[in-house]
Amino acid sequence: MAVRIDHGTASGTFSLDGETHEVENNLWVVGDDAECVVVDAPHDVDAILALVGDRTVKAILCTHAHDDHVRVAPALRQRVTAPILLHPDERPLWELTHGGDHGELWDVDLADGQSVVVAGTTLRVLHTPGHAPGAVCFHAEDLGCVFTGDTLFAGGPGATGRSYSDRDELVASIRERLLPLPADTVVHTGHGPDTTLGAERDQLG
Ligand SMILES: [Zn+2]
Repeated sequence: MAVRIDHGTASGTFSLDGETHEVENNLWVVGDDAECVVVDAPHDVDAILALVGDRTVKAILCTHAHDDHVRVAPALRQRVTAPILLHPDERPLWELTHGGDHGELWDVDLADGQSVVVAGTTLRVLHTPGHAPGAVCFHAEDLGCVFTGDTLFAGGPGATGRSYSDRDELVASIRERLLPLPADTVVHTGHGPDTTLGAERDQLG
């Protein structure tokens, strides 16, 4: 069965360092007619489930743990009975959203180089710290695309002005881990339109 990528958007808020902003996030679901994985869990469980349909969700893959990407991850996990996967370096950010006395954790640690297989397609985990310490990208070589979360957008690197971010580290991650991939690799971002690695390479100089 053919693997496809389903896309939607959901709106809500992003809060960090005492500030709250309205944001619109991309929703990404990768799979075939039988099974899929969800990339990030922004704002709206029902919007994500509308993309999933009646398929089995094998995993909820988190690019990083800013609250606009993981706030509804535990609620989604309850609805679909799938594990949440997150890089362990995201624990401080995860706990800002899901910590406390009745805090919930994710289920499986992501590691650099790990493969997640769905519908016969491999998503390879690239640890790309900078926007957040445990930020990862998911490279689907077969599909010619990479899911970058907030590490790389159309127009350049993600934000690094807040806590737990580091601009030099982010640019190094993009140069060392993303730009060596084929230039025509489509970049599916956490916010806003797609781009390609070639276009961003040219802009980054
Ligand atoms: Zn973020």
